[in-house]
Amino acid sequence: MTADCLFCKIVAGDIPSTEVYRDDRVMAFEDISPSAPQHVLVVPVAHITFLRTADESHESLIGHMALVADRIAAERGVQSSGFRLTINQGPDSGQAVDHLHLHMTGGRKLGPIA
Ligand code: 5GP
Ligand code: ZN
Repeated sequence: MTADCLFCKIVAGDIPSTEVYRDDRVMAFEDISPSAPQHVLVVPVAHITFLRTADESHESLIGHMALVADRIAAERGVQSSGFRLTINQGPDSGQAVDHLHLHMTGGRKLGPIA
């Protein structure tokens, strides 16, 4: 856990969240300000700040994040209708939380990526 990291505090249970899934490597929870009818965040349990601070040892973990997001999309009935996985990185993306996270959004037409 990294001090003063919002998502580390959520993973630790120090800040409440609506948990969707957890295993030894990742946790998923509802986004507090959803941009789509389905909006879940998948985060690594162990703090990783950015993709650029990850290395080859994290490849399986990052792939696992995507598969967990896909399974959540299936559970929520949007796997067939379609959904989007987004990883924001850096200021131009609007990244607000410096703990790697994957957004799963779906449940409406998402339109082109801005
Ligand atoms: P970013 O812009 O960094 O890619 O996404 C951060 C996401 O975290 C945003 O979609 C925002 O709504 C969500 N978020 C920020 N603070 C909280 C919080 O305290 N709890 C939850 N569940 N989501 C949060
Ligand atoms: Zn963290």
